[in-house]
Amino acid sequence: MRTISQKLILFLSKNQKLKYFFNTSILLLVFYWIYKNVLIKKNKNKNNNHDDHVNQKIQNIQENQKTTTQNIQNKRNEDTTTTKNYFKLSNDIKIHVLSTPEECDLILNEFYQSLLLKMVDDKNSPPMIDGADGVIINQQQTTTELLLFPNCNEINNDGLDFIIGFDAEWGNPNSIFDDKIDDKTTKTHYNHKVALIQLSSKNETFLIQVSQMEKIPISLEQILTDPRLIKVGVAVSQDAATIFQTFSVVTKGYVDLVPIARLTNYEGNGLASLALNVMNVTLNKSNKIRCGHWENKKLSNDQIHYAAADAWVGREIFEIMFNTYKNSKTDPNDKKDLVYTLCRQFTGASFKSINKLKNRENNNNGNNNDNTNNKPIKENMLKKTVPDKRVLYDNCLMYSPDDVLLSSISKKKVEWYVSRQLADIIKEEPLSIKLKFQPHGEGHSGDQFYLASKENICVVCGSTHKILRHSMVPHCYRQYLPEEIKSHSSHDVILVCCDCHAILDKKNQIMKMIISQQYNVPIDNENKQFITDHTLLKITQIASIVKNNFYSTGNNNNISEDNLIKGNKKCKKNIPDEKLEEMKKIVMEYIGKEEINVEDLDEILKLNPKQKNENYIPHEKKVIDKVLAMGEKGIFEFIRSWRKNFVESVQPKFLPEHWSIDKVVCCDNGHRKPKDQRQKQIQNQE
Ligand SMILES: [Zn+2]
Repeated sequence: MRTISQKLILFLSKNQKLKYFFNTSILLLVFYWIYKNVLIKKNKNKNNNHDDHVNQKIQNIQENQKTTTQNIQNKRNEDTTTTKNYFKLSNDIKIHVLSTPEECDLILNEFYQSLLLKMVDDKNSPPMIDGADGVIINQQQTTTELLLFPNCNEINNDGLDFIIGFDAEWGNPNSIFDDKIDDKTTKTHYNHKVALIQLSSKNETFLIQVSQMEKIPISLEQILTDPRLIKVGVAVSQDAATIFQTFSVVTKGYVDLVPIARLTNYEGNGLASLALNVMNVTLNKSNKIRCGHWENKKLSNDQIHYAAADAWVGREIFEIMFNTYKNSKTDPNDKKDLVYTLCRQFTGASFKSINKLKNRENNNNGNNNDNTNNKPIKENMLKKTVPDKRVLYDNCLMYSPDDVLLSSISKKKVEWYVSRQLADIIKEEPLSIKLKFQPHGEGHSGDQFYLASKENICVVCGSTHKILRHSMVPHCYRQYLPEEIKSHSSHDVILVCCDCHAILDKKNQIMKMIISQQYNVPIDNENKQFITDHTLLKITQIASIVKNNFYSTGNNNNISEDNLIKGNKKCKKNIPDEKLEEMKKIVMEYIGKEEINVEDLDEILKLNPKQKNENYIPHEKKVIDKVLAMGEKGIFEFIRSWRKNFVESVQPKFLPEHWSIDKVVCCDNGHRKPKDQRQKQIQNQE
């Protein structure tokens, strides 16, 4: 009997093809083993090397941070001996100076994640508050959908964890003194680009040198755009606007401290005065630091301290004012969500509405003996000019010859028809007319909104005082809409009081930013309307300085001794002599003279470095052009988004009956086309 192996060998030797296959398989197996054990191992090492590299990088950043922070700390310790009178941040508060996106994402992300952890539990989640109006853009959708945020539940720690001190610095357009004046390389200092963004929690401050970064770091954008994190500071809307201008990022959830100070009876219009009145500390606001070069790669120790203190103090002031506010509430029910109740009132709120609110609060508390600062805040022009009681809706009725009610109209329109003998008065109360001719089209008959009589009250708060017409689509855009839309848009021109009007104005600014993103039309820089000759501008600025300090150069002998001293005094305070001489030379070179006098300087000062830019098209016009290009559907979407913005930002309680966000926009001479024709047109556009 032959064994199986013998059988196999015999079989293979007989069959050449199979033998070949068998050998190849063994060879492949050997290769596979080599691959698995040698090559993969090598690869693994390579990956490990890569990980090591990343880890090393992170470690480097961390170590770098440590040394910078340590250096700052050392400098702070030294400094305490020199300048005593100004406010200094306590050494327990860490200052992070972040100059690269990697650094920023590493350090700031940690901070952001720690905040997110605190709100993981739904119950602790703070409600979102937008920069101005408690709305957010859902970026997934092509059309701007504005969503209201859910109401908030109970929050631990009064929600103060989510309060962040916020400030920003940018290059100062007036800092021509420190600049090397060189006619060839006229560096433009007129870029209002944000250079530094400061954020501060209770224990840490972050100075983010965005001027050193090509784009905004993700972690920073996340914090700025998270409406649950409330960013507090003075004139924060300006900071937010500059950030938007630089990075097209819409900051959300920012709150100005000044109106809160009004409510809580603290005096002060700026951070320095608030710091003094609320915290009893003096901030160093010297121009030398404040107007310094924030875009420099290396910030001076003074700059670092100044910037960190501003953000931290802003937060601290808020906390103190908040505690005052909290203590004024006696009912425990009122203490719930207090931070958000307080902030929600002031996200983008205007000063004019504050007094009203304050009076309401005081009346509610039965506390009218307000002996601290209650000076009326500067009355606005509008409020002065708008009469107290007005009738803006006359609610007169217009009928067709066959007694169909066509529309509710104004007295003026009644007069127009009657004086031209186109209609007869058929009733005095309410004043009604009947047309003598059959009107073209159906008018507004059957449209409940246009037929109903409307009250002369503010649709937002119900007030009857100082009401005016308010267009939901702001005038700056509306002016470019076609006449047939404007003349038939009474649905979108509602009545509001002066106070609500002022609030809406602010909210519309944010909506404008959203529109600019949505239609991809940047908001204009004011300077775009003009073309500036920067060399000439600089020369005129220098000429003005030289002129103001002219006495001190001894060039004018007609000036009395008295003035000479005054002039000298003024000059010495401003500019050193040699700098002034240097400036004089520049002016002389410019006009090509060996000597200059006051007349020469006056001549230069008459020149206008700004010329009107003939090719300038305003942002609003560009947007409306795009809207109109999209046809009836585009126009409807545009107007609808403003209606939505109006409703969501002020939550009007007194809108006329039958008013609707989805109301059809009259595009064809005010007379609506038959429905199927309208739909056809929309379909064609799609
Ligand atoms: Zn109102």
